[in-house]
Amino acid sequence: MKKHNFSAGPCVLPKSVMEQAAAAVLNFDEGLSLLEISHRSKPFVDVMENARSLALELLGLEGKGYKALFLQGGASSQFLMVALNLLEKRAGYLNTGTWADKAIKEAEIYDDIYEVGSSKNANYNYIPKGYDIPDDYDYFHCTSNNTIFGTQMKNFPNSPIPMVCDMSSDIFSRQLDFSQFDLIYAGAQKNMGPAGTTLVVVKEDILGKVSRKIPSMMDYKVHISKGSMFNTPPVFAVYVSMLTMQWLKDLGGIKAIEEENEKKARLIYSEIDLNPLFKGYAVKEDRSNMNATFTLENENLKETFDAMVKEAGINGINGHRSVGGYRASMYNALTLDSVKALVEVMSELESKA
Ligand code: PLP
Repeated sequence: MKKHNFSAGPCVLPKSVMEQAAAAVLNFDEGLSLLEISHRSKPFVDVMENARSLALELLGLEGKGYKALFLQGGASSQFLMVALNLLEKRAGYLNTGTWADKAIKEAEIYDDIYEVGSSKNANYNYIPKGYDIPDDYDYFHCTSNNTIFGTQMKNFPNSPIPMVCDMSSDIFSRQLDFSQFDLIYAGAQKNMGPAGTTLVVVKEDILGKVSRKIPSMMDYKVHISKGSMFNTPPVFAVYVSMLTMQWLKDLGGIKAIEEENEKKARLIYSEIDLNPLFKGYAVKEDRSNMNATFTLENENLKETFDAMVKEAGINGINGHRSVGGYRASMYNALTLDSVKALVEVMSELESKA
């Protein structure tokens, strides 16, 4: 039986959230399923409003000129939507991994992109530092956590232009001054809920400045004016995201989960560093608290290790093909006990080898 889910996303969700979601599929409103009621009915409009306000509340952005939207098309659609809405002449991008690179490629369709820094030369095992952001560009784009490579930005630049951040794989996981960002987006399927919706938090005053015509579905202003209901929203994904945000709020919010996330990260990285059979992939100072990437020093041990992992009920630790080795994703809903279980297997391998 699989008990410990380290998948990179979709991934583990809190059990209480799953139970409520399952119940709502059967009976959400007087015998009707969440999946069959109108999205314009009061019970669902309340869900959407609650989800939007919980997102702003958790991020400490209430009353600061931001709007929260739950859109479709994944974080990948945000790569082009950001450019369509904000790119007039030129934008600066920090290239820290596969997803950042994809964001650059999409934006390049529309206009000129300048890479302010890149760690491509070292297969993205670090976060570039000391780069400059030109003050006459339209915006600066960065990726807070690089899911595939296991690196995470610990500091953000003091950007002279609007700062846009892809937080798909570490949203709601650590305390930051979120007001330093003008636009944040995150696919739900890691720290927020099931795949199918993407959270966008945007400061309204950065919008409406480009000269191009923007198709309605791609226009943040249209979605804001319709209360994130311009078209039929992905009701299930929004509902489960709302439940997960409520779960986080009840736990004590981002501050409380950050402490747990730090404990989990300390535990796995100390094993990686102390156990001579393993080697960390990302440089130490840029290691992600969400995705720990590591390899076996001796590939001959792979079969034994994989069998032990399976036996312990551990799921989803295979590394991405562009890095190889292993990746333990430790999102908010993964418990410290699950990390302990993995670390035990790693140290057992050392005693066997
Ligand atoms: N950005 C980051 C940092 C990601 O980790 C991912 C997916 O894992 C994406 C973007 C793409 O998200 P989606 O599949 O929702 O388009």
